Amino acid sequence: MSELIQYGSTRNSDRTVSLGTALLEGLAHDGGLYLPRRIPNHAPGAIREARSFTDLGVRMLRPYVAGHLPDAVWTQAVQDALSFPVPLVAMEGAGWDGIHVLELFHGPTLSFKDVGARTLARLLHACLASEPAAPVTVLVATSGDTGSAVADGFSGLPGLDVVLLYPLGQVSPVQERQLIVRRDGVRALAVRGSFDDCQRLVKEAFRTPALRHRRLTSANSINIGRLLPQSIYYAEVLRSGTVKTPIFCVPSGNLGNLTAGVMAHLAGMPNRGFIAAHNANHFFPDVLRGVGRRPGGSIRTLSNAMDVGVPSNLERLQSLLPAEAMRRLIRGYSTTDEDTLATARRVYEATGYLADPHTAVGLHAAQTYREETGDGGPIVVLATAHPAKFPDIVEKATGTTPVAPKALSDLWERPVHVEPVAPTLEALIEILTD
Ligand SMILES: *Cc1c(COP(=O)(O)O)cnc(C)c1O
Repeated sequence: MSELIQYGSTRNSDRTVSLGTALLEGLAHDGGLYLPRRIPNHAPGAIREARSFTDLGVRMLRPYVAGHLPDAVWTQAVQDALSFPVPLVAMEGAGWDGIHVLELFHGPTLSFKDVGARTLARLLHACLASEPAAPVTVLVATSGDTGSAVADGFSGLPGLDVVLLYPLGQVSPVQERQLIVRRDGVRALAVRGSFDDCQRLVKEAFRTPALRHRRLTSANSINIGRLLPQSIYYAEVLRSGTVKTPIFCVPSGNLGNLTAGVMAHLAGMPNRGFIAAHNANHFFPDVLRGVGRRPGGSIRTLSNAMDVGVPSNLERLQSLLPAEAMRRLIRGYSTTDEDTLATARRVYEATGYLADPHTAVGLHAAQTYREETGDGGPIVVLATAHPAKFPDIVEKATGTTPVAPKALSDLWERPVHVEPVAPTLEALIEILTD
């Protein structure tokens, strides 16, 4: 039996905590982000032996969770969370051969965030079940997809309430509907401000003494419980055996998804590297190029779940990889809205594939990478959201309206509840303490 993995902050190497504490605290007390103190080694053989995506998930999470929770409890939680497929689709058509799309959007809220949110919810619930105490409030800022994935993932789990903050008028109508449908134990707040305001409010709430007695936790991608399961689908590509040593192209915002991929890589998953595909918010591509930039606000784009000024997981990436290694392993690209639409159109015309705007940013970066490097090897682009979440944009780009799966069409029949709030800490405190 290998040694129990503990968790530590990116800013302080002395204090280590259990998985339960890391999940519950979200952000470490020193303002840093939790990371496992050791990255285990997943032998490629063990990955290929896994019988299914779920089985792979259990094998990959074992070193991170075993010893912190009883085996029967956490394996059940993980199996429950990973209850949908992640198909790999090969693009076939002029200019797209060798590019594959890993569809991560077949969960209940149709984005890859279901994977992390569902797993975090169930693991946190399992950790809390052993300590009878006041309910925990999950506070989450969302630029669209996180909120609905977290609301859906946590809803109905006893002892866990959710308060979600989203920027009013800055998410698509479908995304908004997904956020505000009435769910057990969930409150949706429409903040009159930007996503960065929402994120700032959540951070401030954690530092507010008046809220200490509320047991607050976060379910943003700063929570390590979201990241760990996101490593699994990278390895699933290897398990399925259709593509060997690909480069992964990751549509990125807060860099949680990319960081999870890097953790899989460091744990032994063979791949050629990563492409960080950003929209006009190109803070990270600038960092990779060594261009110093002062942190600014976020720019609004068509791929709005990636509208992040300064990615919060950069601190984790930098703590996992020295600058030189990071530049060797990851290439960063930035794509305009114009190119996002043009790419969605070109891929549809050449292959018949309907890509959502986030995936289109990834597809554009994949092609740019090919042109720039001449690397003709396989590329796996992570398809992060279902095109039917963005029907207007997809229709504008391709002339075709994506068919909404049942999980979406049902939403319009359900009752909604939303509370508008000012972008101030006072307003949030009032809501959390009433
Ligand atoms: C959240 C999100 C992203 C960005 O993921 P990060 O982990 O924040 O980098 C990309 N695409 C979609 C559809 C998303 O919801």
